[in-house]
Amino acid sequence: MLAPRIVAQQVGPPANIDFHDGSDTMKGGPEIWPSAAPGSFMVGYTVVHKYDHTRTFKPKKAALKIKWLGHSSFQITTSGGTIIVTDPIEFKGYHMPPNLSADIVTVSHEHPDHNCVDAVSGTPVVFRGTDKRLSTVNEIDTTVKDVRLYTAPSFHDPGHHGVNAIFVFECDGIRIAHLGDIGTVLTDDQITAIGGIDILMIPVGGQFTIAAAEADTIVNQLDVRKIVLPMHYKTAAFDDLPYSVEPFLAGKENIRRVDGSEFTVEIGAANGVREYIVLRY
Ligand SMILES: [Zn+2]
Repeated sequence: MLAPRIVAQQVGPPANIDFHDGSDTMKGGPEIWPSAAPGSFMVGYTVVHKYDHTRTFKPKKAALKIKWLGHSSFQITTSGGTIIVTDPIEFKGYHMPPNLSADIVTVSHEHPDHNCVDAVSGTPVVFRGTDKRLSTVNEIDTTVKDVRLYTAPSFHDPGHHGVNAIFVFECDGIRIAHLGDIGTVLTDDQITAIGGIDILMIPVGGQFTIAAAEADTIVNQLDVRKIVLPMHYKTAAFDDLPYSVEPFLAGKENIRRVDGSEFTVEIGAANGVREYIVLRY
């Protein structure tokens, strides 16, 4: 089958505010940064995926664990024991658990509520989705242990103040997308680049990202098959955002409010209904 070749949108100017903490050192494993020179603008983004993005692969009968670490940070543990940590945060009232270790750390963009990689121990491979100025999205399509991961580009925030990387993980026969600080609904090219999604981590808090209405649009654009996990919303630990999770949940059925931070996805289980799962911090 012919591999899809996608040319996605032009990306915008760099962020006009430097949120970055100035730190560019990382202990542990290798770091993957954008290959473009610092300060250069990405004028186009070409994704040539090796695989067909339709969901022809068969879900395994396995259990995968997902734990919310606060804001946009999740710990995903595959059935093979590989640990992914997305967007680690040490900011406001959110703190990573002590001795958190990982095999893979992803950073959707270089803002301090998303890039606290030093808070993760062990020797993870760190995938930086953007450069520090949010001018370039790192084009990634690679495999670490039992996880294939790849990126798709988006704008940060509704005002397009820089770019943001969408990370997609394929593991245990399903596909999980983490949208980072996405600022707009998706283009057709982005939908194609992301592929069919079983579990979606999506911001709903507004201002720096989309809010409820756009989030609903994206859930439908991606036709999320299994689970939607709202993130990046106003909480007691981080009250700088306009909206809590409630406007996004309003009017929805199939909401599961977990009394804890973690749940298990039974991958082989039949599940024809999309579920909205809210975790505690
Ligand atoms: Zn953010």
